[in-house]
Amino acid sequence: MRVYLDYGATTPLAPEVIDVMHDVMKNHFGNPSSIHHHGRKSKALIEEARKTIATFLNASIGEIFFTSSATEANNMALHCAVRDLNVKRIISSPTEHHCIFHTLDALVKEYDITVEYLEVDGKGNIDYAELENKLKDSSVKTMVSLMYVNNESGTTLDIHKASEICTQYDVLFHSDTVQGIGKLPLDVQETKLSFLCASAHKFYGPKGVGFIYINGDNQIKPIFHGGAQERNMRAGTENLIGIVGMAKAIELISEIRDDNFKKVNDLRNYMKEGLLKIEPNILFLGNENTMYSPYILNALFPHSPKSDMLSMNLDIRGISASSGSACSSGVEQQTHVLKAMKVDPSRKAVRFSFSHLTSKEELDFTLSQIAEIV
Ligand code: PLP
Repeated sequence: MRVYLDYGATTPLAPEVIDVMHDVMKNHFGNPSSIHHHGRKSKALIEEARKTIATFLNASIGEIFFTSSATEANNMALHCAVRDLNVKRIISSPTEHHCIFHTLDALVKEYDITVEYLEVDGKGNIDYAELENKLKDSSVKTMVSLMYVNNESGTTLDIHKASEICTQYDVLFHSDTVQGIGKLPLDVQETKLSFLCASAHKFYGPKGVGFIYINGDNQIKPIFHGGAQERNMRAGTENLIGIVGMAKAIELISEIRDDNFKKVNDLRNYMKEGLLKIEPNILFLGNENTMYSPYILNALFPHSPKSDMLSMNLDIRGISASSGSACSSGVEQQTHVLKAMKVDPSRKAVRFSFSHLTSKEELDFTLSQIAEIV
């Protein structure tokens, strides 16, 4: 048996997504910038996809721009906020994905700005009072950048509350919503954001395509120079196949979001109970008591020679799970997220991440293998 429990790293393509992408590959090769029949057809497919995504977020179509990834989208949001919107101070958290963390490091070197990190507790929660206190003294243009769902712990931001605080203090609010899109609710009319970023391969769409939502109040300039694609905001011939696939994926996932949530929550609880039966000293990273995403369960195994190289041993036995976040897997070092959450470094973290495609049989198999290993 081969079991995949790394849906936080990436997801397989939904069969319906493959079908629409196949259709585009076979039948629509025109360059969307060409004004003849072939080009117009491709352009129309892109605009249909934009409408689907805008409808999903309750945004207007002029606020959605396609990118090559969430990494690109997050870079764009942070760079442009500093360069074009005069942001001089960014408040973020130490548990952000590397595409935020490293971009902030680069921005501090490149521009005259300051970056401050909020404290997080042992479950990865920020302190909303600390955020408010920081915003009270804001004399310069400020942006808050906080991820919706943490990719290692599943800890979930109260995005509505964070947004209300940002609105109250009149600061920009950017969120890396990669692990929340299609899993948790998000409506930009209810929750005001300046920027949000997403990636298709996290919700059963293709790799190499994502999007950025830019609230219509924010007039920014492109970071790439070239053609007039994406209304002059993102030069480069569009990834037509990917964009169409992403829109189909979002349409499908939004139809089953709430049912998936319940199903995955049951699976997660089942896995958690099973793990505790094997080893009662396992701790779980992240937030149980308030908001968490059931799609991610990070188990912290107590130190023992048997738990060393646990994710590698699981792989040998047919189970794909992650020892850290996808982008740093293979590196047997505590991640910056675990460090920020002050996890005992002797503990061995294994991130299991689930899908509506996950079955109890797969979890039983995984649990039986873990029982044998540890
Ligand atoms: N942000 C988070 C929270 C992620 O989990 C990931 C991917 O692992 C990214 C950003 C980067 O997304 P992409 O693969 O589209 O660059």
